[in-house]
Amino acid sequence: MLQGGYMGKLLRINLTTRQHVIEDIVAKDFQYFLGGRGLGALWYWREIEPNVEPLASQNKIGFFTGPLTGAPLVSTTKFQVATKGPETGHYLCSNSSGYFGPRLRQAGFDALILEGVCEQWTAVVVENDTVRFIDDKSWQGLSTFEARKKLLNQLPDLKWATLCVGPAAENGVVFSSIFVDDGRAFGRGGSGAVLASKKVKALAVRGDNTLPIADAEKCKEIDKNARKDLKISREKHRLLGTAQLVEIINELGCMPTLNFQHSWKPPEEVQGVYAQTLRKEYFERNYACFRCSVACGQSAKVKLGEFAGAASRPEYESIGMLGPLCGLNRMDAVIAADEVCNKLGMDTITSGNLLAMVMELFEKGVISADENEGLEVNFGDGQAMLQMLQFIAERRGLGKIIANGAKGIIEARPEWKAFICHVKGLPFPAYDPRGFNGMGLAYATSARGACHNVGGYTVSGELLSDNYDRYALKGKGELVKSLQDNRAYVDSLGICTVVRGAYGFGTSPPPDTLLAVTGYDFAPHLMIIGERISNLERSILLREGIDRKDDDLPPRMKEPIPDGPASGHFISDEMLNEMLDEYYGLRGWDQNGKPLLKTLERLELKEFIS
Ligand code: SF4
Repeated sequence: MLQGGYMGKLLRINLTTRQHVIEDIVAKDFQYFLGGRGLGALWYWREIEPNVEPLASQNKIGFFTGPLTGAPLVSTTKFQVATKGPETGHYLCSNSSGYFGPRLRQAGFDALILEGVCEQWTAVVVENDTVRFIDDKSWQGLSTFEARKKLLNQLPDLKWATLCVGPAAENGVVFSSIFVDDGRAFGRGGSGAVLASKKVKALAVRGDNTLPIADAEKCKEIDKNARKDLKISREKHRLLGTAQLVEIINELGCMPTLNFQHSWKPPEEVQGVYAQTLRKEYFERNYACFRCSVACGQSAKVKLGEFAGAASRPEYESIGMLGPLCGLNRMDAVIAADEVCNKLGMDTITSGNLLAMVMELFEKGVISADENEGLEVNFGDGQAMLQMLQFIAERRGLGKIIANGAKGIIEARPEWKAFICHVKGLPFPAYDPRGFNGMGLAYATSARGACHNVGGYTVSGELLSDNYDRYALKGKGELVKSLQDNRAYVDSLGICTVVRGAYGFGTSPPPDTLLAVTGYDFAPHLMIIGERISNLERSILLREGIDRKDDDLPPRMKEPIPDGPASGHFISDEMLNEMLDEYYGLRGWDQNGKPLLKTLERLELKEFIS
């Protein structure tokens, strides 16, 4: 029935025994969970016990592609990681672009599982169905960039894709990322620390297989049309990247500023980090992921001044969290901080968030430089930021506490709780939900903690259109549920969310793309598959002790925004509860957020999780 779109195989590597096995993936798993995030959640349910500690040897880490990953279509770049994440202590899913997913398919696999622990630091090299290890003490301490370079230098000159972790992961920083190729990352949740806990510094993959495609001619036509569409619909994305949102979100009064003490600043105090500034003063070239014609990456370099030489590809979240949230209105310092996060291998969202917390604690005199090896870190101080990032990665000074993330910080210093904006241990991204209530519900209910993607990107519906009153409560449950289910299936396909519109992957997707690739008409089932994934992830969280009490927002969200276009707005417990009740009801969950039996039966999920 499935004529293409899958290799049908999973590669499982045991790092302790150095053995590997190739396993079949049954067609039913693809039919019901599609691939990518769906397949990752199913694997997690089957193999990760609820009491496993994230950095213990019993934890496993899996990489999952979707039916479109590596297919001959525009932007078929995405793949997922699933593991028990150290930042929240629970289920983690995260996606990345890059070449690794497509190359994994060329090696012959839809998924790669790593289990056990190596005796010494190693790099794992997968070439078709062979696996080898490059053990070397000197992997330790290398930055992500250095590790990639060292690995590629040891491999024949072929088309390799890589994953690397930096020093932060080696030191167990719970928000350390996995760096993909030369510019993308599994940013959130600490998957880097899990990989490092297995003493894996890097992976490389390549292969000579071809992904089976049901109708190659039809694919060519779809690809041509999608590229034509993207040329017009995503022209601004190519020109300014996601950084274009800085101006828009600030003007709407939803830009987290000075550690969420504000959500807006007058334009003259923010325009130093606008996309136009990036383009005019620092832009070097566009960067494209695998097969992507949009090329939204804005490669930038600082040429003059105290941060001269710094280079990165800052996107909206990194600019928002390392810029206005930390009181910085200068793009050169943001580029430098972004680069340091990339080299050390740390999530820019959590890094910016916790740096801003430290800055507010200094501002209010709650902490002093004595506790931080003499380093004072104030809002707007770019140099101090860079040094503090280094402290975190090395667990020095206050970095010893910050490296443990929001949950670890609150455990060590409960009195700092009021200064951290997080849900389930995952700090907020660069949208202040007090300016649009649906985002508050999205953060509260997202399967991995506060997330604007997995939780549901309500920005378009609430802020950029007249479809919803952003301050209303009614209707937000329906909006968030629909966005979450849509995103769950898109994350399982293997394409970038930025291009999904060109394929029509909304709530009523057309059949052509998946029919051409797989030969199976997935389209009528895609939203149900998304809903099934959402319910499976919820079932995982419940098994790990997460329920309604954790679908909460932090204390600062209950304080009114002091100024700007969203001035006076807040989200009280009563408001959140009203949205949660509507959301749970629509989901077919009980009052505690547990799927009802009839919901599991309707989604044909019961047989998978019983
Ligand atoms: S739109 Fe941007 S992020 Fe998405 S695949 Fe293309 S270059 Fe990568």
